Amino acid sequence: ATPMSIMVGVGRGAAAGVLIRDAAALERLEKIDTLIIDKTGTLTEGRPAVTAVVPAEGFTEDEVLRIAAAIEKPSEHPLAEAIVREAEHRAIAVPRVLGFDSPTGKGVIGMVERKRVTLGSAAFLAELSVDASPLAALADELRKDGATVVFLAVNGRVAGIIAIADPVKATTPAALAALREEGIRIVMLTGDNRTTAQAVARQLGISSVEADVLPEGKADVVARWRSEGRVVAMAGDGVNDAPALAAADVGIAMGTGTDVAMESAGITLVKGDLLGLVRARRLSEATMANIR
Ligand code: ADP
Ligand code: MG
Repeated sequence: ATPMSIMVGVGRGAAAGVLIRDAAALERLEKIDTLIIDKTGTLTEGRPAVTAVVPAEGFTEDEVLRIAAAIEKPSEHPLAEAIVREAEHRAIAVPRVLGFDSPTGKGVIGMVERKRVTLGSAAFLAELSVDASPLAALADELRKDGATVVFLAVNGRVAGIIAIADPVKATTPAALAALREEGIRIVMLTGDNRTTAQAVARQLGISSVEADVLPEGKADVVARWRSEGRVVAMAGDGVNDAPALAAADVGIAMGTGTDVAMESAGITLVKGDLLGLVRARRLSEATMANIR
């Protein structure tokens, strides 16, 4: 490839909201046949809101939110922001948390008012031997509507569940349609629960779903698709997506996401919408046609 055409491509990209950090990524983009896409913050807005709070016996809705907001206060996860915002909205006074920790892709843990508090995925609570069965059936109902359900435990006992929904970005359906038209296979990749992931995938007509994937597993999924001979682009926004972005033939970060994702990707879509990827593909084709 001649450096001149690539430089022109990079310049045109910048004008169109496509930042190209790695010229080789621009060359490879026209050759991709598979696009693996993170769900939260990439296919969806990444600005989730609480849609339901269900207390376990002995708790009230506001109590569940009060404790959940306390434990989420130090977390920067979009789910944490939704919970803290809902508590503010209901004017609930939120106590302090001590000894906070947040195992990535699982949830949060700490002490609130001298009680051991855990909030996170069903798998995380199971790992800590909390019996969530009293609320399991209800959680599954909420997931079928596409909500993410997090479980709250206080002193090792389930205290309630919170359903949080994240709307699909307005531009996502059109972008996926355009990419499919070009023969690209779309795969959803998420740390979220399978039922929730499939509900969102169904809305978007995505049939390949890789759910319940821990952050360190996301890069493995990319590697697996590549080992099957596919040319893979990975699009994502989070810290948890960074290794997968680096492992792909082309890594694509959302400009609305984390710095770590952008540093790990060859291409950044400034506005964070996937229509930018359709533009980037045109640019790649035009650039490579110029060179040939
Ligand atoms: P995604 O891949 O969709 O961006 P993550 O890998 O960040 O999702 O998180 C996976 C799951 O871990 C979430 O769906 C949630 O159940 C749990 N989780 C992670 N962080 C938090 C948090 N701060 N509060 C509650 N749950 C969390
Ligand atoms: Mg994400």
